Amino acid sequence: MTPLPSHNARADGRKPDQLRPLRLQNHFAPHATGSTLIEWGNTRVICGVMVEESVPRWMKEQNVPGGWITAEYSMLPYSTRPRKTRDITKGKLDGRSQEIQRLIGRALRAAIDLEKLGPRTICVDCDVLQADGGTRTAAITGAFVALSLAVRRLMSEGLLKNNPLQHSVAAVSVGIVQGQPLLDLCYTEDAAAAVDLNLVMNSAGEFIELQGSGEESTFSEAQLAQLLTLGKAGIHQLLHAQQAALA
Ligand code: UDP
Repeated sequence: MTPLPSHNARADGRKPDQLRPLRLQNHFAPHATGSTLIEWGNTRVICGVMVEESVPRWMKEQNVPGGWITAEYSMLPYSTRPRKTRDITKGKLDGRSQEIQRLIGRALRAAIDLEKLGPRTICVDCDVLQADGGTRTAAITGAFVALSLAVRRLMSEGLLKNNPLQHSVAAVSVGIVQGQPLLDLCYTEDAAAAVDLNLVMNSAGEFIELQGSGEESTFSEAQLAQLLTLGKAGIHQLLHAQQAALA
């Protein structure tokens, strides 16, 4: 926990329940089946989706019907200071990247009816162009848009007959900084937070995942309820922004 430079004020002057400005630039990667660049404050993530007409071996071996969604997450070397060495150079995947890409996969699998997808694999790639906190929540929120664009394309090409998307999915961070619950933490706030919680939810108002922890600190049930209220309001706005970007 590092103290924030100024007391009670947010680094960028936002209200406690205010999201950073959000922009989705679709078709950012023209060779992908669906793609978007999500710009969320100073965090930027490229989300690209491609489709393979096969399923993982374990699905074939276990006779699991339908398809699969898998995700990869990575921070580009120049997305942060100091430069972040590529995993391939180190020869092994970063534990944090692995945790985040599993989270993205779980979040998106909750958005889709895998049986309706048919025997194919959707590969989601999230590459962080610029990191300023909340890269996993940006990756999930942007990846859902890229996934929707990819599904749209598969339907227009006649590869999919029935729309497999069941719910929209978005994610946001909330935390307690200097005793105050805040929505959508930027890096300096994240570093100063006593409690940090990432919330993944769908458009039916259901939870997909909660990743919450006290950082050298604890939190009460009442504080958790406050954080969930803040987070749910943020998710509501994010779902609207996704729909606008897909309209
Ligand atoms: N960060 C970084 N280098 C790293 C990991 C994290 O610069 O190797 C910064 C980055 O700004 C990131 C923030 O720390 O957004 C918070 O990281 P965290 O692991 O909490 O994940 P995130 O909030 O990005 O989902």
